Parts: sequence; structure tokens; C-alpha cells
Amino acid sequence: MIVEVILDLPMNRRFDYIGVDVTPADCGRCVRVPWGKGEKIGVIRALKAVSEYPVEKLKPILEIWRHVPPLIVQDWKLIEFASRYYQYPLGQTALSVFPPALRRTKGWHPKRVWKWNRHKEEKVSSPCLNAEQQGIVDAILAKTGFAVHLVYGITGSGKTEVYLSAMEAVLARGKQVLLLVPEINLTPQLEARIARRWPELPWVSLNSSVSETERAQRWLAAQRGEARLVLGTRLSVLTPLPELGMIVVDEEHDTSFKQQEGLRYSARDLAIVRAHQGDLPIVLGSATPSLESWMNAQTGRYHLHVLRHRALDRARLPQLHLAPTKQSEPLWLKPLAATLARGEQALVFINRRGYAPVLICTGCGWQAFCRHCSVRMVVHRHERSLRCHHCGVRESVPESCPSCGNVYLETRGDGTQKLEGQLREWLPEARIQRLDADTLSRQGAWRTAFEKIVQRKVNLLVGTQLVVKGHDFPQLSLVVVLNADQALFSSDFRATERMMAQLTQVAGRAGRADIPGHVWIETDYPEHPLYQALRAHEIEEFWQQELTLRQKTGWPPYSYLALLRCESSVQSAADEFMTKAMGLAQDLAQPGLVIYDPVPALLQRKAGQHRRQMLVQSGERGRLQAFLQAWRESLGSVKLGRHTRWNLDVDPLEC
Ligand code: ADP
Ligand code: ZN
Ligand code: ZN
Repeated sequence: MIVEVILDLPMNRRFDYIGVDVTPADCGRCVRVPWGKGEKIGVIRALKAVSEYPVEKLKPILEIWRHVPPLIVQDWKLIEFASRYYQYPLGQTALSVFPPALRRTKGWHPKRVWKWNRHKEEKVSSPCLNAEQQGIVDAILAKTGFAVHLVYGITGSGKTEVYLSAMEAVLARGKQVLLLVPEINLTPQLEARIARRWPELPWVSLNSSVSETERAQRWLAAQRGEARLVLGTRLSVLTPLPELGMIVVDEEHDTSFKQQEGLRYSARDLAIVRAHQGDLPIVLGSATPSLESWMNAQTGRYHLHVLRHRALDRARLPQLHLAPTKQSEPLWLKPLAATLARGEQALVFINRRGYAPVLICTGCGWQAFCRHCSVRMVVHRHERSLRCHHCGVRESVPESCPSCGNVYLETRGDGTQKLEGQLREWLPEARIQRLDADTLSRQGAWRTAFEKIVQRKVNLLVGTQLVVKGHDFPQLSLVVVLNADQALFSSDFRATERMMAQLTQVAGRAGRADIPGHVWIETDYPEHPLYQALRAHEIEEFWQQELTLRQKTGWPPYSYLALLRCESSVQSAADEFMTKAMGLAQDLAQPGLVIYDPVPALLQRKAGQHRRQMLVQSGERGRLQAFLQAWRESLGSVKLGRHTRWNLDVDPLEC
């Protein structure tokens, strides 16, 4: 028997092997095959009687992984879509479905007795839904077949309760449910909630923080249909689920649903495609829906469900205060101190880790830049080092200016470390916990920090955007946001959307239980419509304005984008490739397609790589897709030096 195998290779073709005891039931199974002098993992795509190659040249399959069920028709449908839409080779797309342990040639075998991650939680009955919530659950369950539901409600309005109730009904019908969340950080709280609600339910949590073998075991439980519920981050959107009955995407606007390397998919968008293919309902939830989803809700393609009130009667919306920047004693300091004195918790949010983003010579103006990237080095206090947040390089802070010898070097700007120090001076009694990539990078660090917060061992949190997502800190009643103005002047057309989402999420941290919340934002532009909308809790109108603006300027969601990126250690090679790419694009261009000139990436040089990009835009998705397909093929035949690489990013989030 001749076996057609697709491999983890950057090309869209099948390879023929000889299979001795292969049967049609093996189609869709992982195999280990010889490749050059080594071996590779692939997936069986088809069987056939004859090969167009001489049989004596074909090699035999080394091993078939029969302990893993094969991919089935519905899995292939999703893989083929993802491969086509994201312009990524089929073999590599198919292999991204499998957990890493199964993609290694040394193989992996499931444990015969494997312990479910059933938490030892007491069953806690879920709160009675209020009328608004119940109405939404009923509306979701009333529709059979494919439907996209957008549940929009401020933080604490009870969205999660809505999804869980809808999921419960689907589980009771004997179906599997997939619940996607943007960040690993969000899973512990949701895991606990699921465990308390359904102590008997076999379910798994899939994310990259569990060990490879454990992840493979859980993945297999999902694929075999044993796990009835999968809670996972973006990577789990491709998990085979034979009896899938509903998908839920929590915080659907979150940019971490977009994979930024390899198969550059949006887990939210793929989830919608998956629901469509499987004729299932999908529920998207957010306090700040993406403009894409918002527009679809406005045009009626999605069903919009709004939660207007906070679930707990006593919980009020936080009050917003705007304070000028650069005060020697900021206006928020007294309220902050009073909050701590009342035994409540506060959060000061700044979007930069480290001590200070700039080290400058007071004599000649020299600044510390990374040798490998086109960015400044960030000063880190405790280890007295300079660090590049893009390539990770570290060096010690120079004793004197490398350019003029002056010993007076100063820092400019603030990071979490400097802020922490400043707060310690102002509020010596405060028990401060810093929450940023530096303090939370260790395994389990987030869980420890979270426990400290819940047990009130700390009362003042200093953090970056890592803390703002979806956490429920009942004692947190005051939030201060520093450096908020940055995004107002960004050239990225999504900057205000993102900032609005972020500020709303940060503000949503304040005053969740029965303590009224206060949010202080430092800004030099208090009259800006964004702050005014935030103050009046009028996101909807602001979103409408944003949509009008996007329509005028022709940006998404009123057009579709793809970005070609190229990087090379040799600058001229990157430029040369982009010139060729431009020529090929012009040859293939059709009316209705806008091809922008190649430009240096925002971060021109990163880790020694010179980075270039070019944008292609169209008002019609199909037109863009047809162009990309042809363009990718011709780009594939451009000769590249060893030092040059390129990729295509469809629906890029940053351009
Ligand atoms: P969201 O997901 O919108 O932030 P949650 O579903 O997490 O909101 O609800 C916020 C808080 O309110 C949670 O502590 C939740 O248990 C509680 N809650 C939600 N719905 C109700 C309800 N109908 N009755 C009482 N408490 C509720
Ligand atoms: Zn100098
Ligand atoms: Zn660097």
C-alpha cells in the first residue's frame, strides 16, 4: 500500500511512503517516517495503490501511532480552512493540532491510569440568574445550529454566569463544550469556578503551563470524547472534539487570541469558522467587544445580548477621576492612602516594567540603545543592569557616558520598579506587591501572588497589563492609571480601540463587591472624547464614533489586510526581497486591491535582524484571499539567502 503523508515542512505537498499493515482506518493518524538522514513526524492524508515515483525509491513508514485516534473529517475541514486562509502549509497546520509530545519522533505513550484533574471542591450551587441573564441564556439555547452570540456587559455584570449556564444545558444534552480564554493567568480562577459548579464533570484545562506529557494526556482525553469540557487558551481551538456542541470565547477582543508566529491564526476567528462548519452556536463575551464583532452585531450578523447592570445589586460602577500628570504630589495619593487605611486594596497600573525606559547622559545627550535592536535599553534597578525588552540582552549600567566620559547619567520616565520605590517612600506602611513579567515569570509565581492578594497579605499592587485581565479582587476599590496618554498619538489605527479596552478593563477591577470603586487616570488631555466616554460609561457611543472613523479611512473592519514581513541579518537582502515582492504583487494585482510600498517595521531592527514589511488591503475578503494565494506561490520561488526569512500575516493585529 502507498501512503500519502503530509509532513512538518514549509511546502504544500504530500510525500509517498510504503505502508505494510496500513488500513484505511489509519488515515489521519500520526506516523514516524524516514527523512533524509533522520526522521520526521507526519500525518497520513490518504492511501493509494500506485505512486508516480518508482516503488523501489520509496521508504517504509517506521511507526503508526495507533494509541491516538485519527483526525476525522471535521478536523480536516478546520485544518484545510486554516491552512488556506492563513496561507500556511497543510502539513505544518495539521501538526499544530497535536500537542508537542506527539510531534516528537521519540514518541509518547499515554499512561494507562491517568488521574483526572478533578479538583477536590465542594459543590457550590450557582447563583440564581437575574432576569436579564436568564433572558440571554434562553435566547442562546433557543437557536439551534450555527449562530454567533455576542454577550456584551461591563465587568461584573455576570457574563461568566451566563456562559456557564448555557454550557450546562449543552453538557446535559450530552455534548462537549470548548471554553476559550485569552491568558493562562485567567485559568486558575475559572478552573476553581468550574470545579465548584460541576464537581463530577470530567473536564480538562489545556494551556502551555502544564507539562508536555500531562498536556498530551489531557488532549487525548478531549479527543477521545472523555473530557466533556475543555478550558483552554488559543492553542486549544484546534483540539479535536468529536461531540462538540458549543464554543464560548471569553474576552473575545483580547489580542492574545492571535498567534504571532507559525500558523498566525486568530483563535476567535477560527472558533467562529469551527462553529459554522459544525453548525453549532458560539458565544463571544466581552466588556469591550472588538470593533469587528461590534460591527457584526450592529449589522445583525451576530446576535447582540447586553447586560446593563452589575450582577450584584450593591456593586456600582466605579467613579472616574482625571488628574494632571507630573505633579510633585499627585492628586490620587491622598485617596490612595485613605483606601489602604480603610483596609481595602489598591492597584497602580503602568504599562512598562523595569525601573526607567531611558538612560541619558546629562553632558552630551547620549542614550543607551540596544546593540541588536532599534530601541532604548531599559534600566533595571535591583541588578543594576540595562536590559533590552525585545531581544533580552543584558549589560551593566555604565559608570560613565561611553561617548563623553561624563559620570552624570540620569534616568527618564517611569517603570514598575521606580514606581514601586516611589510608592514605598510615600506610603511606608503599604504592603506592596509588584506584578509584571519580571516578578511573575517563574512557574507558579502568579498563583502565589494571587493567593497573597486574596488573603490580603498585600494591599497595594503595582502592575503592568498582566494584571488587568478578568481577575476578581473583591477588596480592590481604587485603581490609578499612569501614562495613559501614550496611545492617543499612536500611528496604529487600532491604538484608541485598544486603549479604551484596556482602560475599561483596568477600571473594571475597581469596586467589584460592595465597596464603591474609584479610578484615577493621569492625563494631560482630560477633554479627549475617549476619557469623556469612559467617564460617562458610554463605550457604545464611542465605539460608534470609532466605526464611523474606520469607515471614512477604510481601515478594518471596513477592509481586510494582510502583511508581508521579511527579516534578514543583511539589510540589503531584506530590501532586495521586498523589492521583488513588490514587483510580483504588482504583476498579480487586480482592481479592488491596494498594495502599499514596503516600509521598515515599527521596530526596524530586532536581535540583529533588519525588518521590513508591506501591507495589502482590500474591501473584499475573497479578492484578498485569491491574491494572497497567488502571491504566496510566487514568493515561494524567490531565491533567498540563508539569512533571510519572510512570512505572511493575514488579518494582522499590528501593522
Ligand atoms: P463577568 O464575567 O461579567 O465579569 P461574573 O459572571 O464573573 O461577571 O459575575 C460577577 C460576580 O457576580 C461573580 O462573583 C458572580 O458569582 C456574581 N454573580 C453573577 N451573576 C449573579 C446572580 N445572578 N446573582 C448573584 N451573583 C451573581
Ligand atoms: Zn555623554
Ligand atoms: Zn535588543
